[in-house]
Amino acid sequence: MSRIKEEVLSANAQYASNFGDKGSLPMPPGRHFAVLTCMDARLDPAKFAGLSEGDAHVIRNASGDAIRSLVISYKLLGTKEWFIIHHTDCGMETFTNDVMIGLLDSSLETSTVDENGWHDHGNGPGSHEGRYINWLTISNQAQSVLEDVIRVRQHPLVPAGIPIYGYIYDCKTGKLIEVPEAAAAGAAVLE
Ligand SMILES: [Zn+2]
Repeated sequence: MSRIKEEVLSANAQYASNFGDKGSLPMPPGRHFAVLTCMDARLDPAKFAGLSEGDAHVIRNASGDAIRSLVISYKLLGTKEWFIIHHTDCGMETFTNDVMIGLLDSSLETSTVDENGWHDHGNGPGSHEGRYINWLTISNQAQSVLEDVIRVRQHPLVPAGIPIYGYIYDCKTGKLIEVPEAAAAGAAVLE
């Protein structure tokens, strides 16, 4: 077995041995909110936002759009507030669509990055399929939080009464910093 697989399974055995009554938690999140954030390994929403099992939905990806998950979170599972959280030093700031397309054209193997940008060293062939995906890269975090909040706020499947909060998580301090323009754009419209 791979070492990582072994470590994961042993951590899980430990976790399950203290599982207690968590097996009877209901499916809808008990604290009625959802967090949409990046997949960056340094972010631990359970810790930085104080979540326990059953508390909240956490939707994570590489900063992309997550309308489907958010709508399910509200429509079927009753969340009432949503947080969109980007973070400092995000990997999505380090490349553009064109860079990603070029790297994938060259090979499918893992590329490296240095002060001159990304470089591909893999043995090809790569694939041209990369050009049919919008990689949703980021050039300005505050602007990107604002754009995501506006995109979610204006989506026809998102109810006007749900507040959407926009934050940047600071990887150096662990603090959540509100993006004021996003807070304004995400405010609930009360009927
Ligand atoms: Zn990120």
